[in-house]
Amino acid sequence: MTLGFNTLAIHAGAEPDPATGARQVPIYQTTAYVFRDADHAAKLFNLQEVGYIYSRLTNPTVAALANRVAALEGGAGAVCCSSGHAAQIMALFPLMQPGTNVVASNKLYGGTIQQFNNTIRKFGWSAKLVDFDDPKAIAAAIDDNTRALFCETICNPGGAVSDLDAIARVANQHGLPLIVDNTTATPFLCRPIEHGATLVVHSATKYLTGNGTVTGGVVVDSGKFDWSASGNFPSLAAPEPAYHGLNFHAALGAMAFTFHSIAVGLRDLGMTMNPQGAHYTLMGIETLPLRMERHVQNAQAVAEWLEADPRVDFVTYPGLKSSPYHNLAKMIVPGGAGALFTFAVKGGYDACVKLVDHLKLFSHVANLGDTRSLVIHSASTTHRQLSDEQRAAAGASSNVVRLSIGIEDVRDIIADLDQALTAATA
Ligand SMILES: *Cc1c(COP(=O)(O)O)cnc(C)c1O
Repeated sequence: MTLGFNTLAIHAGAEPDPATGARQVPIYQTTAYVFRDADHAAKLFNLQEVGYIYSRLTNPTVAALANRVAALEGGAGAVCCSSGHAAQIMALFPLMQPGTNVVASNKLYGGTIQQFNNTIRKFGWSAKLVDFDDPKAIAAAIDDNTRALFCETICNPGGAVSDLDAIARVANQHGLPLIVDNTTATPFLCRPIEHGATLVVHSATKYLTGNGTVTGGVVVDSGKFDWSASGNFPSLAAPEPAYHGLNFHAALGAMAFTFHSIAVGLRDLGMTMNPQGAHYTLMGIETLPLRMERHVQNAQAVAEWLEADPRVDFVTYPGLKSSPYHNLAKMIVPGGAGALFTFAVKGGYDACVKLVDHLKLFSHVANLGDTRSLVIHSASTTHRQLSDEQRAAAGASSNVVRLSIGIEDVRDIIADLDQALTAATA
């Protein structure tokens, strides 16, 4: 019998602590682990036996979280990282070489566009950002040096829903892995692997932890991609010089990506999640299904209320019939269209800034996916360093504010927006 999502959210990856019987996953606040003897140590370093060596690589608390998220996403394995952005680098790292590129959606989260446009160039990688609503544009951007496609399930902040099945078909036709950032949907609303994704990345900072206490990330591997087929993924499917010539795919099969990410990625890049952060995220995930239900219910009600308000120009929530992504949302996120969206205030930039300053229940922060309702004016903050064109493509034009709808009483959320809109448009 396969366990249901609610059950997995509480139990997957965890069992009573073998040493003490502790029911909750202990925070293993330790750097190193005593080897039984020299032979045991040698076997661990050769990957002949799985066990703990040093917490930059693996830690029991962090491993419980990795296994839980892998179970929720339906993946073969997962690796936890120090942040969502670290998870993105860790997802690309085994696939890329200098001179290779990733074809990515131009509607990605602004921080990711920044990372892809500028920072990854220092590794000799590059990104081509194209309109992922158009499978032909994706196919046209793919060249001999492309090693992955990258998109978000529900784009932050513009609320575009990605047609993961169509995008996965393009990836398949070109023998490429599809990487999906599932931060805003969470596995409660969408499991991208079921739509053909190879890797799923998360900012655990957001809904997985759910209360704004942790910075963390996770990469989940479906275990389904054939790294050996094309000859284009030598780190995974040829003798890896960074690990005494081990061919990870030949030796580890469906766990090749996960083991490479730990044995080489975390070992050499060191973007490791700390055990305390992992513990908080495990606690958060226990209530993920309950929270997400309330998040999407509140978001739908707030979006409908805003759309009917004469002080508002438009609302981008894909749960609204007016959204061009409404039908896609029913296929990709049937349980609800997330809880993050933008809306345009009549009066443009100045009215947006006034609105943000007059909201009381909403917190003005650069975060999302908290139990609390959050607001930000993307154009003057998270998307500040992008051009007007890039902002428009990302759905973060200067006349819109982004809301992350929390799980408070919805009438209180609406009342706060009502008084702030009055002040902003007076
Ligand atoms: C926040 C976010 C990230 C980056 O995650 P951090 O944990 O802040 O590094 C990546 N993708 C999306 C969609 C996000 O919302």
